[in-house]
This record gives sequence, structure tokens and C-alpha cells, in this order.
Amino acid sequence: MIDQALLKTYLADEGLTYSDEVILKLDRFAELLLERNQSVNLTAIKEPDAVLVKHLLDSLFIFKYVLFSEGAKVIDVGCGAGFPSMPMLIARNDLKMHFLDSTQKKLCFIEDALATLQLNGTVIHTRAEEYAKKNVSRETFDFAVARAVANLSSLSELTLPLVTPGGYFIAMKGKEGEEELEQAKAAIKILGGKTQALHTFTLPDGSSRTMIVVKKISQTPTKYPRTSAAILKKPLS
Ligand code: SAM
Repeated sequence: MIDQALLKTYLADEGLTYSDEVILKLDRFAELLLERNQSVNLTAIKEPDAVLVKHLLDSLFIFKYVLFSEGAKVIDVGCGAGFPSMPMLIARNDLKMHFLDSTQKKLCFIEDALATLQLNGTVIHTRAEEYAKKNVSRETFDFAVARAVANLSSLSELTLPLVTPGGYFIAMKGKEGEEELEQAKAAIKILGGKTQALHTFTLPDGSSRTMIVVKKISQTPTKYPRTSAAILKKPLS
């Protein structure tokens, strides 16, 4: 399916080395994705070479910039078909990965992929703003990650309430990341976060990426997150 040797080389170029078993599982996941995508709309990216770069490699770049402690509790907010969460879990099966999305069909795919790849993960079918209001989930995650879900201000309101003080929120953005961060600075502060780093990099196909790392330094006021309508109508600023 994908060019495993090429993936291995791209990763090694970034200082990321994985066993053949991990590379094989990443390949198998790409295969499952493209197979299921023929009947269920999971991704607009249909070529194996593009899946390799835009989904697998892009997701795994997170390990170049962020150190995830052994066994860390991680939530991917708006995981869709599992990006960045599924490549992350394949590469680091010690992580306690939680896949959250409001779309059931994507989570069915995740459940099937977890079973096929013999991985353990928790699938959560709900809206992030509802999940973050529950005592059992609020401020319980060491890391929240999110790619291509909402603009950074709204996304911070969906994710930071889930992160425990001392934990991190990592937003994976395109080239708009820096501008979005400027606009989201006030929101991040209100929600108890502090921007720690902004990394920019280019994928082998030339696409620009931004990774924003926010540390949770204090508890999020209980009134957040607001309803999705309120978040949309009046982003925090
Ligand atoms: N993160 C994946 C990726 O990068 O391929 C999926 C991106 S997709 C464009 C956005 C996903 O976020 C969709 O699957 C959608 O259902 C989910 N989503 C958007 N807002 C959400 C919310 N408030 N709560 C839960 N899921 C949400």
C-alpha cells in the first residue's frame, strides 16, 4: 500500500526511528482507511503517497516537538478518522489514547482499526463542549491534541477545559497557525493556558505546518466551555 521504506526514511530524517512492526502497522492503518473510504467518507486524501505524507508523517511530527511521558493520558479532540491520534498510538502504544468525535461513522472506523491492529484505545462519541463539562473528564488529561477542527480560539475553548493543570494542549495547524495564535492569545489566557512554543515546518510535499504548544497553568473557569452556538457567535477575545 504505502511505501514503507520511504516513510521510514522521512521519519528517520526527523530523528524519529520506529521498528519494522510499527511501520507495518502504519501501512496497515493506511490500507484500512482507504478501503473503508470507498464506502464511508472519511478522508479527501485518496492516494497512498499523499496519505503517507499528509496523514501519517504529519501526525507523527508531533513526537519531534513534544515529549509525551510514558503512559500519558491523551485525548484527540475531533479525531475524525484518527489523525493525529491513531498514528501516535501505533508508534507509542503505551499512551492512553482517547478518540473523541461527534460523528459516529468515523468512530466506528476507529473501533474497527483498533481491533484489527490489536491496540487499546477509548472511543468517545460526543461533542467536546459536552464532554468537558463532565466531572469525570474535565481537567483529567495530560495532553489534548487536535488537527483541523476549528480556529484556535474556539478550539482552545473545546480542549483546554479537558487538560489537567500542568498538562498541554497541542494544536496542529497549517500556515495560518501564527495568525490564529495572535487572535487566540486572550482566549488561551482566560482558559488557563500559556503559549509555550510555536513550531513551523514543511512536509516533503511542500505544505507548511504550524504546531502550537500551550501549557495549562491554571484551572479553567467553570463557565467554559460555553455552548457550541455561543462559541461560534462570540469567540473569546
Ligand atoms: N482531526 C482529523 C484530521 O485531522 O483528519 C479530523 C478533522 S475533520 C476536518 C474535523 C472533525 O472534528 C470532524 O470529524 C468533526 O466531526 C469533529 N468535530 C468538530 N467539532 C467538534 C466538536 N465540537 N466536538 C467533537 N467533534 C467535533
